[in-house]
Amino acid sequence: MKHYHQFQHRYFSEGDYVFHEGDSGEAAYFIEEGQVEISTSFESQKTVLANIEAGGMFGELALMDGRPRSASAIATKNTVLTIVTRDQVKERIENADPLLRILLMVVTSYFRSETNHFRPKKLGTVDEMFSVSSNDLQYKIAEVFEIIRLEDELSIALNEEQFKLVFQPIVQLDNESIAGFEALLRWQSSRRGSVPPDVFIPVAESTALIIPLGEWVIRESFRVLKILEQQTNQELFVSINIASRQIQDPNLLDFLVQNCQTHGVAPGQVKLEIVERCLFNPSVAIPWFEKCRKLGFSISLDDFGTGYSSLAYIGQYKPNIIKIDKSLLDNFAQSKESRSICHAIFAMAKELGISTVAEGIESEEQAIILREMGCVYGQGYLFARPLSLEDAITVLGQRRAP
Ligand code: C2E
Ligand code: CA
Ligand code: CA
Repeated sequence: MKHYHQFQHRYFSEGDYVFHEGDSGEAAYFIEEGQVEISTSFESQKTVLANIEAGGMFGELALMDGRPRSASAIATKNTVLTIVTRDQVKERIENADPLLRILLMVVTSYFRSETNHFRPKKLGTVDEMFSVSSNDLQYKIAEVFEIIRLEDELSIALNEEQFKLVFQPIVQLDNESIAGFEALLRWQSSRRGSVPPDVFIPVAESTALIIPLGEWVIRESFRVLKILEQQTNQELFVSINIASRQIQDPNLLDFLVQNCQTHGVAPGQVKLEIVERCLFNPSVAIPWFEKCRKLGFSISLDDFGTGYSSLAYIGQYKPNIIKIDKSLLDNFAQSKESRSICHAIFAMAKELGISTVAEGIESEEQAIILREMGCVYGQGYLFARPLSLEDAITVLGQRRAP
């Protein structure tokens, strides 16, 4: 027998169970050597579903949906297996295109219902990742088609100029003067009316449409930035949200540079907001960050403090700005821990020469705490909602930089 690493491999003698029907499903198995029989039994009547040889895989349904095993697996020879755990696939599935995720869910459910034919009753509890009951299935299929319809409508919307930008002020916390704006996309659909960004943006981001749409956002926000500066005689910056696909677009940086020239915008006035999810692939992201910095664009790490936040990212990517997520601020009043975490983030940022923005500030109390902690910029309903160009000009007139 070959030598196998003990953490990734498991050995079974002929006749051993790998798992029993009804066990919780936490892993899939690849057969390195040996053979495994998959079977179900009901009232001591055994039905063999398959015999899987070396090179084959089994147990993968549980990997997708985490539901109890719908069959048993027995080694029919001395067998060596490689294990793939749910944790190993979970993050990848969560980061996958939403359409693919739902399709995977639907396909998994169909396979489940196929193996269920061999058994008279349904088993146990369903866990959180892919909880699909047969009632849900119809709904999930409808969801897939809704995403496809949305994709079609979005590409028409771009040609028919149904998008617009709104601009939310970002203020300097020490004196509350407006330093810049975040450009936020809005869709006024002719068929659906106003569609919330959390509905259409993930769909756009999961398709190639985000490239032309993102280019439109860049062009439009530079145009507006110049109007705001000219109308108010103030120097401002603009923050633009950049999706993962845009980072992978080899033309994006050229496009930004060209549009800076066309509109007379200095790269230093442009902050590119990137969420941590985009840093999934360091071999793409790190050189990209480096290029941005060389060209003079600032990078702002958006939604910091959510999801995969890791302080190690900061040293690795060296963003110019960290943007603290609203969820951390929301617990300020009740939770000393949230305040301590923020405090540590601001101290670290200062030490590393990284600027900070807190977003989603809704109360004066939050603003006071953030100011004391040394947060540089603030954004939120307390200061202003996202504004149309006209309203932004008015608000800028009222809040002149001292
Ligand atoms: P985000 O980048 O985290 O943007 C901040 C969101 O928080 C905005 O929601 C903003 O309206 C909202 N917000 C600001 N202040 C407050 C506050 O005090 N309280 C509360 N409750 N909310 C506040 P919005 O405009 O709905 O945008 C949602 C998300 O859509 C954005 O989250 C961003 O991820 C994405 N998005 C928006 N525009 C673009 C775009 O042009 N391109 C890309 N790729 N994504 C965009
Ligand atoms: Ca943002
Ligand atoms: Ca954010």
